[in-house]
Amino acid sequence: MSLEAAETLFRELTGREPEGAWSAPGRANLIGEHTDYNEGFVFPIAIEQRTTAAVARREDGVIRVASTFDPEPVEVAVADLASLFGGPAGSAVANGSVPEWAAYPLGVVWAAEAPPPTGLDIAIASDVPIGAGLSSSAAIEGAIAGAINDLWGLGLSLIDMAKIGRRAENEAVGAPTGIMDQASSFLGRPDHATFLDCRSLETQSVDLGFAREGLAILVMDTRVTHAHSTGGYGERRASCELGARMMGVPMLRDLTVDDLARAEETLDDVTFRRVRHIVTENQRVLDTVDTLRSEGPRAIGGLLVASHVSMRDDFEISVPELDLAVATALDAGAIGARMTGGGFGGAAIAVVERDRLDDTIVAVAAAFEKAGYVEPRQFEVVPSRGLGRDL
Ligand code: ADP
Ligand code: MG
Repeated sequence: MSLEAAETLFRELTGREPEGAWSAPGRANLIGEHTDYNEGFVFPIAIEQRTTAAVARREDGVIRVASTFDPEPVEVAVADLASLFGGPAGSAVANGSVPEWAAYPLGVVWAAEAPPPTGLDIAIASDVPIGAGLSSSAAIEGAIAGAINDLWGLGLSLIDMAKIGRRAENEAVGAPTGIMDQASSFLGRPDHATFLDCRSLETQSVDLGFAREGLAILVMDTRVTHAHSTGGYGERRASCELGARMMGVPMLRDLTVDDLARAEETLDDVTFRRVRHIVTENQRVLDTVDTLRSEGPRAIGGLLVASHVSMRDDFEISVPELDLAVATALDAGAIGARMTGGGFGGAAIAVVERDRLDDTIVAVAAAFEKAGYVEPRQFEVVPSRGLGRDL
């Protein structure tokens, strides 16, 4: 567990006890992909795996941070944070003034813009798989934001802290990501998903009913790696911006399915299909929330599958491994399945009857072996609580 590991690391680092421990979970997106930066809708869950920060204040204006992820503690004067991270996005990482991992926790302190009355000792431990598309980055940001919010009495809301996490990631680390990861991690509740309007940042916690109905969420991580900063992700963002400009709207969020006929006449084929994915995906998120409320969780399967088809054929961000995972899970009786995350690799999810979970895992592993793919990493994720104080 990350709490014990963080406390142990804290004692090793400082020889004293932490004043408290704060944690935030990873997340998995149920539906709503690439919609966040188009100011649309997403519907993610917080998962059980968490990152914990054990923290105590220091009198000397120094921040010392250590993580089980990297044995070398990093030390920075609070007074130097502004000059460290105030330059071009990611420059402190690029020029080696701080290791990349330390830009996440230090970046959160910087982005909170709270004149810190004290320094901090911080020890971080995590059981969120790192770089697996489950947002270990939001989890570490949340643990730090929660700590400084309480220790410095900042009075921030969860959404305020989500904005600070995103700013740290965008400007201190230099990763151009949306706010979905932080919002879904910080606001999570057991057996709920968070409906997030990425324009207004209005959120609703929606009862999934999965636990009640005997349903489980399986993650099928293909272990095909992807890098956010390179290639496809940026190209898709550019296509979305082009589509919005050519359609005369600020963001693709401002189009509905009724606009698609005009979009098809106006846009080249590729841009049209990119636009169609975003527009229909936004509608599918709204339909998923409505369907959960009116018909219950077993009725959302078709929406999940339609989302996958749209990402595969229109947005073109799937890979054969993801398609195989989805198809095999559905053949094994899954209620719905789709790739999740940015695409070009990473993981797919399936909603399955709990008593079919093991059989589905076996079927997907067998299909991958037969296809000659690397063995996928498969595990259940459980919709869980969000950011909180644990000690
Ligand atoms: P993901 O969020 O999908 O796991 P990212 O590339 O967005 O992948 O974030 C992973 C990075 O976040 C790591 O490479 C590291 O720099 C930082 N990070 C995440 N968790 C920790 C941790 N427990 N300790 C230190 N750094 C971490
Ligand atoms: Mg991340």
